[in-house]
Amino acid sequence: MTRTLFVGGNFKMNGDLATLSKLVHQFNDADVDVESAEVVIAPPALYILPLKELCRKGIEVAAQNAHQLPAGAYTGEISLNQLKDIGLNWVILGHSERRTIFHETDELVAEKTAASLKAGVKVIFCIGETLEEREGNKTEQVLDRQVEALAKVIDEQSWEHIVVAYEPVWAIGTGKVATPEQAQDTHKHIREFIAKRVSQKVADDVRIIYGGSVNGKNSKELCSQPDIDGALVGGASLKPEFVDIIRSAE
Ligand code: PEP
Repeated sequence: MTRTLFVGGNFKMNGDLATLSKLVHQFNDADVDVESAEVVIAPPALYILPLKELCRKGIEVAAQNAHQLPAGAYTGEISLNQLKDIGLNWVILGHSERRTIFHETDELVAEKTAASLKAGVKVIFCIGETLEEREGNKTEQVLDRQVEALAKVIDEQSWEHIVVAYEPVWAIGTGKVATPEQAQDTHKHIREFIAKRVSQKVADDVRIIYGGSVNGKNSKELCSQPDIDGALVGGASLKPEFVDIIRSAE
């Protein structure tokens, strides 16, 4: 079993067309082995199309969210069919900011994920515990619950179109990164839960990436853990340093 490393860059609601285009040019020009990692950037929705045109082969573009229904009177939303229509292959779903600020439940995130796979859009499926949950020894229970919601609504084959992003909420945007051992232990638990709940094959094949204050300095050690298959990067994806994170895979 070989799992190709996956590096995602989540720009969130940051940047403008000029600065993000410049950044993409820097990523394009970087001397990295495009075969060693799958790279996907997620700009604000407005900039998906122009940036997609700029990205060289080997860098794909994702949306940061989508609506679960195919069309209708949902002002401000974008459907998965519309993402597919413009040639997008990836979407981030269940990011902790969507779960906490926009009150997305486990069930809604799972429903969106199932709809996404039906539309032919692959999913970076985010899960993670809060600081309170970690300190209350509830980490595994929370992650199992989030994965269980998804396992209930998709079949075994569909897992090949999912990348699970483990992002402890306390590590996102805080500069407080999980230690490689902490992250490895948790990834191992997620993989074991998937083996039990779905199948050993899915557990062996599915990529589980880490997110939360990853930067050019800590990425190599994190990504070299046996159950960590890459990174989902927020702040550092807005800097040329993102290239160093991609290089962790080499
Ligand atoms: C994220 O929001 O997905 C993230 C991991 O952010 P940061 O890298 O800034 O912690």
